[in-house]
Amino acid sequence: MGWTKKVLRVDLTKGTCKSEPLNMKWAQEYLGQRGLATKYFVEEVDPKVDPLAPANKLIMATGPLTGTMASTGGRYSVITKGALTGAIACSNSGGYFGAEMKFAGWDMVIFEGKSPKPVYLAIEDDKAELRDAAHLWGKTVWQTEEIIKKTHQDPQTRVCSIGRAGENGVMYACIVNDLHRAAGRSGVGTVMGSKNLKAVAIRGTKGAGGIKDGKAFMKATVAAKKVLAENAVTSQGLPTYGTQVLMNVINEMGALPTRNHRDVQFEDARKISGEAMHEKRPTDGKAQLVTNAACFGCTIACGRISKMDEGHFSVVNKPEYWGASGGLEYEAAWALGAANGVGDLEALQYANLICNEDGYDPITFGATVGAAMELYDLGILKKEQIGMEAPFGSAQALVKLSEMTAKGEGFGKELGLGSARLCAKYGKPELSMGVKKQEFPAYDSRGIQGMGLAYATSNRGACHLRGYTVASEVLGIPVKTDPLVTEGKADLVKAFQDATSVFDSAGVCVFTTFAWTLADLQPQLDAACEGGWSMEKLALVGERIWNMERLFNNAAGFTAKDDDLPPRLKTEPAKTGPAKGLVNGIDKMRPEYYKARGWDEKGVPSKDTLKRLGL
Ligand code: SF4
Repeated sequence: MGWTKKVLRVDLTKGTCKSEPLNMKWAQEYLGQRGLATKYFVEEVDPKVDPLAPANKLIMATGPLTGTMASTGGRYSVITKGALTGAIACSNSGGYFGAEMKFAGWDMVIFEGKSPKPVYLAIEDDKAELRDAAHLWGKTVWQTEEIIKKTHQDPQTRVCSIGRAGENGVMYACIVNDLHRAAGRSGVGTVMGSKNLKAVAIRGTKGAGGIKDGKAFMKATVAAKKVLAENAVTSQGLPTYGTQVLMNVINEMGALPTRNHRDVQFEDARKISGEAMHEKRPTDGKAQLVTNAACFGCTIACGRISKMDEGHFSVVNKPEYWGASGGLEYEAAWALGAANGVGDLEALQYANLICNEDGYDPITFGATVGAAMELYDLGILKKEQIGMEAPFGSAQALVKLSEMTAKGEGFGKELGLGSARLCAKYGKPELSMGVKKQEFPAYDSRGIQGMGLAYATSNRGACHLRGYTVASEVLGIPVKTDPLVTEGKADLVKAFQDATSVFDSAGVCVFTTFAWTLADLQPQLDAACEGGWSMEKLALVGERIWNMERLFNNAAGFTAKDDDLPPRLKTEPAKTGPAKGLVNGIDKMRPEYYKARGWDEKGVPSKDTLKRLGL
């Protein structure tokens, strides 16, 4: 469909919705979705803005391939200044919401200001209006979607919304669409809640159109789908086990962060793995996994749909949690499980359901519980403060805390701060396992060295989706590199970061990169979009996007000091596994990376670099 060339600007303070033409010069320089929306954002928002102030903006954006027949072409992103991090935030989600936005004829929706009362945005093709959401405030994501669909009397209406976490200021609230797909990280849902914006409901009937060269596009998308179908990861591993295919693999490598990164291998990893989700439970003779599932237009179908054991302590007498629902994905299973030493698969699925229902990020939540459990282990937090015993490995504590967090009940209010603010409050900032106040995902950088650099330099705080060198260091995609060495990782991280910036701006899922390189994406974009999209142009666009985000963060006050890892990863060697005895070599890799990027020793892009990138 290329671009619809239309932007919807919603002034929440005034209650107005206005259409404006897409800036096509910027579209040629920043492509779409992450890149193009960030360009709008950095042009319009003061980098020093308080993320929760009305002057912060929030943009929902599609890419040129969103809504097309390109495989996985259903993505959209939310761009804002993150509540959790204070850095540029871009959170990407699948499901069907993004494609519906495109079908309604919009490349992006820009929200500015703050509504005086709770509202939701209703879009039907060209028509957009803000509606009262008083009756939705206080409702969960699942209730909100159901009520809106009933009100609109159209089951094809697609909804994204915040849950109680976003309303109550949990610093890592998500925006959830299609019940269990989320723009999950950095607190984009917290920003949405601060604007009194409860939900967006979209119905689009225009379908896909506007492809530059339909015949060439058909040919390119068919060829790219063939690549996915012939790759073992995207045609077998992901559909069969989902991202959970990684649990046992990463554990064996000695890179599965366990008990707040005290350990790198989890003795119960097998019990919470993708393989375990397939096995019959001894309790009721049924497997947790019901089926796999796909987002719009996806030929991989990595999604997990699961059903809990109705007799598990977390859901006894709670039939509302007995139906089939989304999860577990690898990052959530790790954060709720290994990060806390919890090996009870059913408890993880329950906590994951609560994260979806109440709209908060299971990675940050799980990691924050892990930090709290370490504070408890050290005697800094007492049973009376938490409201329960909370040793590492306690499934009961995990379940109870997940129920308290979005509602802000008791210690749940403190967990809602995220681990950086929580650990600082109790005098142990070094126990927060993250970068730029955002918690690590599921890879220990003592066992996968490149990921340490990718985390430290990620523009949105610690993140695996900004430069997934696991592909190379673990899976050998596109080439195998040694995970235990730092040599060559600066260039590797840069290459992954720049390429990912393009994929995130195109409208497709980053999981395609297990099989695709830019050379598979390029013919699809070139056939869909006017302007001549060569490999050289795409490479430059990716690098330009990365540097644009960096400039915003630098202006917001971030410095080279923020491109660092917690002391534990630099001073406490891995105790077991292949990385035994190793710490992460971030201090060696960082200067090499700055050099590869054309930045000075303070991490500031040089004049030559900016000139070369047209910034
Ligand atoms: S690979 Fe998975 S996350 Fe990506 S679009 Fe397909 S189903 Fe969705």
